Amino acid sequence: MAEHESLEFGKADFVLLDNVSMEEFMANLKLRFEKGRIYTYIGEVVVSVNPYRAMNIYGRDVIEQYKGRELYERPPHLFAIADAAYKAMKRRNKDTCIVISGESGAGKTEASKYIMQYIAAITNPNQRAEVERVKNMLLKSNCVLEAFGNAKTNRNDNSSRFGKYMDINFDFKGDPIGGHINNYLLEKVCIALFSSCINDGADFKAVADAMKVIGFTGDEIQTVYKILATILHLGNLTFGVDGDVTLIENTKLVSVLRELLSTKEENVEKALLYRTVATGRDVIEKQHTTQEANYGRDALAKAMYERLFCWIVSRINDVIEVRNYDAKIHGKNTVIGVLDIYGFEIFQNNSFEQFCINYCNEKLQQLFIQLVLKQEQEEYQREGIPWKHIDYFNNQIIVDLVEQQHKGIFAVLDEACMNVGKVTDEVFLQGLNTKLAKHAHYTSRKLSPTDKSLEFDRDFLSKTFIYSGKNKDTLFQDFKRLLYNSSNPVLKAMWPEGKLRITEVTKRPLTAATLFKNSMISLVENLASKEPYYVRCVKPNDVKSPLLFEHERCRHQVEYLGLLENVRVRRAGFANRQTYPRFLQRYKMISEFTWPNHDLPSDKEAVKRLLQGCGFDHDVAYGKTKVFIRTPRTLFSLEEQRAEMV
Ligand code: ADP
Ligand code: MG
Repeated sequence: MAEHESLEFGKADFVLLDNVSMEEFMANLKLRFEKGRIYTYIGEVVVSVNPYRAMNIYGRDVIEQYKGRELYERPPHLFAIADAAYKAMKRRNKDTCIVISGESGAGKTEASKYIMQYIAAITNPNQRAEVERVKNMLLKSNCVLEAFGNAKTNRNDNSSRFGKYMDINFDFKGDPIGGHINNYLLEKVCIALFSSCINDGADFKAVADAMKVIGFTGDEIQTVYKILATILHLGNLTFGVDGDVTLIENTKLVSVLRELLSTKEENVEKALLYRTVATGRDVIEKQHTTQEANYGRDALAKAMYERLFCWIVSRINDVIEVRNYDAKIHGKNTVIGVLDIYGFEIFQNNSFEQFCINYCNEKLQQLFIQLVLKQEQEEYQREGIPWKHIDYFNNQIIVDLVEQQHKGIFAVLDEACMNVGKVTDEVFLQGLNTKLAKHAHYTSRKLSPTDKSLEFDRDFLSKTFIYSGKNKDTLFQDFKRLLYNSSNPVLKAMWPEGKLRITEVTKRPLTAATLFKNSMISLVENLASKEPYYVRCVKPNDVKSPLLFEHERCRHQVEYLGLLENVRVRRAGFANRQTYPRFLQRYKMISEFTWPNHDLPSDKEAVKRLLQGCGFDHDVAYGKTKVFIRTPRTLFSLEEQRAEMV
């Protein structure tokens, strides 16, 4: 019996709730989690709760059950979404994407892996060698990225977080022929993380092996080791003063660093203690204060990690990129994109990262609203069904508040950071108060040393404490030159801008906020060109327990993932639509008028007759080519009756 037929497991689709309230939503989510049903639909969206235990639901047999089936024909599962995205791409030649969001530890990356595995399992029936190679690369690349992007920590709350978007390209047969990865690295990792990651020798060996398979050379892997070691050692480096001279306290480390970076000892020392500045025509060496030296050291460690990560991604892209694909011969090459990205976050103290994450999610929410409503509207029009207005909050105004040119929050932030000598939160706040005072969604705050929080009248962005200093995390040019001048060619190649002499460095580097904003705008443009599918991940507790459903914690996530709003939008329209022949094919056995064949003038008439007979006529609309079913309850009862017959 299909799962949605038994109430013992709660409702398989939140759209079926008697009342769309937070209480009912949470009760259903909890019941299903406790019954081991970790997936639940909201229409075509999958809500997933991290089970924190091995689930026996990803095997070959389960894959077979989902292959080629319609979403509602099987219990909710990631595979159903993966299959829907794949089918849409193959049948209709459309680019699709799967957006997976949730907080750190909610199960996004696991979900993306299962989706990839599903796609790998259902493609390449003819075992073509090149396709197998590509599939292997795509799966292995995930493992490498995980190792570097997500440091393993006990509670996972301190892990480095990054957003990852991966395109998988398919040929006209629907087989994978390549891919491309974009990464959105946000939080530069704190050094402490590495001792959790690197010390685990066995783990690292596995990663090195995967790198080898992907095609990294021995020298490249060695260099990766060296960079990671450098970052660790930098964490132990301390500075002191002698009179007014800043010096390195543990000088032995300098020779270790020299060795690791394949450069000269005096160069290492100089880069750590001095910076080259151009004043008019003169170029002088200016000694760091200990504070500046500390800042420089930390910035170096972070920048090396970030650069390493980007370099790994670009090397992987070199390998998985589609080659020799001739569209003229093979037809259009279509894409499924998989986005693994952090959801809304609100902590006691929120920082620049939360601001960026939440901005990103406002953008995704905007896209969701636009696409769902737009798609619905267009289809109703095509099918001649009257459009009913759906009331929802259009968050475009929030997106504008953040990203607008000249007077958006990012623009004000950048301006505050231009102020070279003194970047303070006060300057930033003042800018906001001046420029945005009249904005309907910005509440001006009186400057006060104890309360730096900003308030917006939208919960998602409320009380975001922006620490503007993080926006300007730039690396002294001297370090770039140091790394560029390394005799290790791999390392040197990672730092091409180190070639520039100080007098040639004129362009102000783009700030972190601007870079992030630009990457988000292009990400959303890309997603908007595809047909989206969604997976929303919820983390049930902070202690990785398979038994604990922390109500408040989950409620918070449901709220910030916008799930209730999602249910409401979904309920406002039609839950399901199918062409008349397809509908008959599936349900004709439940009515004497249609079984085994009907003698009505058209399939449309036959479907009408069938639905009238079951008493569902009031819950459907008849379009030109499709029947529209308003509530999933009707659909599920049809499925139920069908199950009794077959
Ligand atoms: P995120 O990418 O959202 O930070 P992960 O996908 O890395 O989270 O999941 C964190 C951990 O939770 C995993 O290492 C795994 O132990 C567990 N987990 C997540 N999803 C599942 C699942 N479907 N089945 C079993 N365990 C899971
Ligand atoms: Mg992850």
